[in-house]
Amino acid sequence: MTSKPEPSVTLHDKTFHLYISHAQIQERITAIAKTIDAEYQGKRPLFITVLNGAFMFAADLARAVTIDCEWAFVRLSSYQGTESTGTVSQVLGLKDDVEGRHVIVVEDIVDSGRTMANFLPELEVEHPASIAIATLLFKPEALKHEVQPDHVCFETGNEFVVGYGLDYDELGRNLPDIYRLQE
Ligand code: 5GP
Ligand code: MG
Repeated sequence: MTSKPEPSVTLHDKTFHLYISHAQIQERITAIAKTIDAEYQGKRPLFITVLNGAFMFAADLARAVTIDCEWAFVRLSSYQGTESTGTVSQVLGLKDDVEGRHVIVVEDIVDSGRTMANFLPELEVEHPASIAIATLLFKPEALKHEVQPDHVCFETGNEFVVGYGLDYDELGRNLPDIYRLQE
C-alpha cells in the first residue's frame, strides 16, 4: 500500500498504465467522508455497496466515516469484458429495511448511468428518507441516463480502467492503484 505503484500492468491480453495512485484515492475518500460525516450526523445512514467493483472503495470509505452508520451489500451486473452488456440483474438481493432510512449507494463507477437508473427506482419504492450516490469514478461523457452522483472521488474520460476493486475479466481487482487502458 505504501510501496511505489507499478507504472504499468498486463492483465490477460491488455496492458494498462498507472492513472490514479492509492494515495490520491485515500485523499479523496478522506474528503468525501468528512462531507458525509457532517451531512448525516445523527441520521445513521445506510450505505448500500454495489458489489463486486465497489468493495475496496467501500472498505476504505467505511474506515474514513466516523458517524454511526450501517452497511449493506447488493450485486448488480451489467458489464462483461470491457463493454456494457445492457442488462442489469440484481443477483444478490437487499435484505435490509430501507423505509425511512437515509441511503447512500456506494458505486465503483457511474458510466452510462444505466445501473443506477435501474437500481434507484427499485430503492425508491421502499420509501427511503433520502438517496445519495457516492462513487469512486464518474464518466460524465458516457452518461446516457439522468443520474447525478452526489459524492465523486474522480471524474474521468471514457477510458476503461482497472484496479482498486475494478476488474478486466476478473483480473486486477486486487491492485491498490487505478490503471487505464491506452489503445
Ligand atoms: P453503467 O451502468 O453506469 O454504464 O456502468 C456500471 C458499471 O459498469 C460500473 O459500476 C462498473 O462496474 C462497470 N464499468 C463501467 N466502466 C468501467 C471501467 O472502465 N472499468 C471497469 N472495470 N468497469 C467499468
Ligand atoms: Mg458497478
